Amino acid sequence: MPIPNILCSRCCLAEESTDHIFVNCLWARSVWWNVFRWLKITTIYDDSSVNNLLEHVNAQVGSKRWKKMPQMVTFGCLWTLWLARNEKEFNGNMMPVQKILELIKEETFMWVKSRAAGGVLDWKKWLEFDISV
Ligand SMILES: [Zn+2]
Repeated sequence: MPIPNILCSRCCLAEESTDHIFVNCLWARSVWWNVFRWLKITTIYDDSSVNNLLEHVNAQVGSKRWKKMPQMVTFGCLWTLWLARNEKEFNGNMMPVQKILELIKEETFMWVKSRAAGGVLDWKKWLEFDISV
């Protein structure tokens, strides 16, 4: 997907690239920082890329069942960052980080619930990323 070389409308500090939109933009970084804190895994501090981020999440140690959750949340986060980017780009609405976090939690909760194994999970536990059932 070609992205024109224009200044990022969220931070106005760098040109938009895929890695900038999803990882390196200050705005994306604060979303990831909060997401990783929610997932209780370490965050990425340096300039990075989507690939590094996926590797970081995939390298987390846990049960097979547990590992699927951060992976799924990561895709939910990328998806929501893209929606939020477009909301700013096309409608001029800057979505606050907390709002993006809420959307990610709601969206991924519905994904988990739609699977047989997620049926017993409740919303309160999900908000604390307590997936022990
Ligand atoms: Zn930016």
